[in-house]
Amino acid sequence: MIAGDELPRLLRGSRGRPLTVNQHDEIFGSVAAVHSTVEELEASGLTGRGGAGFATARKVRLLREQRGHHKFVVINAMEGEPASHKDRTLLSTNPHLVLDGALVLASMVGARRVAICAARDNPTVTNHLQRAIHERQRSSSRGPALELHSPPWRYVAGEESALVHWLDDNASLPQYRPNRPHILRIGHAPVLVDNAETCAHVGLIARYGADWFRRLGTDQSPGSALVSLSGAVSRPTVLEVALGTPLRAVLAAGGADGSPRAVLVGGYGGSWLAGRDLDLPFANESLQRVGVSVGAGVLVVLPEGACGLLETHRIVKWMAHESARQCGPCAFGLPALASDLERLVRGVRDADGAHDRLIERCGAIEGRGACRHPDGVVRLVRSAMTTFVEDVAAHRAGFACAASASTEHFATVPLLEREEELVWE
Ligand code: SF4
Repeated sequence: MIAGDELPRLLRGSRGRPLTVNQHDEIFGSVAAVHSTVEELEASGLTGRGGAGFATARKVRLLREQRGHHKFVVINAMEGEPASHKDRTLLSTNPHLVLDGALVLASMVGARRVAICAARDNPTVTNHLQRAIHERQRSSSRGPALELHSPPWRYVAGEESALVHWLDDNASLPQYRPNRPHILRIGHAPVLVDNAETCAHVGLIARYGADWFRRLGTDQSPGSALVSLSGAVSRPTVLEVALGTPLRAVLAAGGADGSPRAVLVGGYGGSWLAGRDLDLPFANESLQRVGVSVGAGVLVVLPEGACGLLETHRIVKWMAHESARQCGPCAFGLPALASDLERLVRGVRDADGAHDRLIERCGAIEGRGACRHPDGVVRLVRSAMTTFVEDVAAHRAGFACAASASTEHFATVPLLEREEELVWE
């Protein structure tokens, strides 16, 4: 058994070389003994590591209330953000831990099928998963069926309603959902969707229990979490940290620039956090006091001298391109936001007007999309306006900073540029 206060918990083994089922058993204990109750899961306080941070046991209870035997568990390993690498690192190290958790969740909700979804553009991960599933199938034919699915990679294809839509109807388009807990379905079958990292934690809680899980982290944010660190770092990396670790210590562990200007926390739909706030613990209850959340564990370090407005513009332009273009505020609003931001960044003569339009548009877009994609962009833009307030004032007055005029810092935030038009399937 791994000691409860020891790290890593999830990333034991050599990176890039997945553990076989026998090696996995040796390190974590026998797969055959893996079993848990929803009460144990609830006591652990585990929350989803895919971004939204819902209590995992609460989602399980909702599914258990659904009638019928045809239920699905869907494991989301799509990882649509170019700055996020945690799920592929986990699946390239310990795919069986994710499968353990998926099977525990399936038995809790009474599902007969488990669909594991990894983007088809990521053949290394899909190969690791395929091998791990075959190993399971060779050792036992009992229990829920494990199926690998490979939807096309798009940012919103990993949004859970888009993923379920693709499994149901081959279309990676988000579905409208009311702003309250809502059951997604494949055909008539209710579906539980959980992120790959969340499942791996379930696999450990099922072995070692809730008290063990809570030996790391804080009361409100127990356990460890995977962090994808990039930007001004010696090299992009994935770390496993105890929730509640000061952000500055997380960055130091990843070899980040000693005194960054700001850090993008939570990903492209997340928020900028100023360098002066880096002593805050990496946990939602602390970060939310300054309007930031852990999200899917993405941290992008912006070095001193880089332009936060320029980087924000790059992300917004990319996010506008990734919209599924089914809702007006998203399809037209996001390109308009990108265009206003560009005018502000360049410090052109009507930069002041562009700034005011930008603020107005944020209000008009927020809450108007079928999914949360545009809300994430609005959050990012608003956080840029407050974190880089002095830059905003200078750009509004028509004085673009040196960084925005140079091409040197263009690659701080990792983006995959697409040249082709997106095709939705
Ligand atoms: S809000 Fe945007 S990404 Fe979401 S469903 Fe509508 S058009 Fe698609």
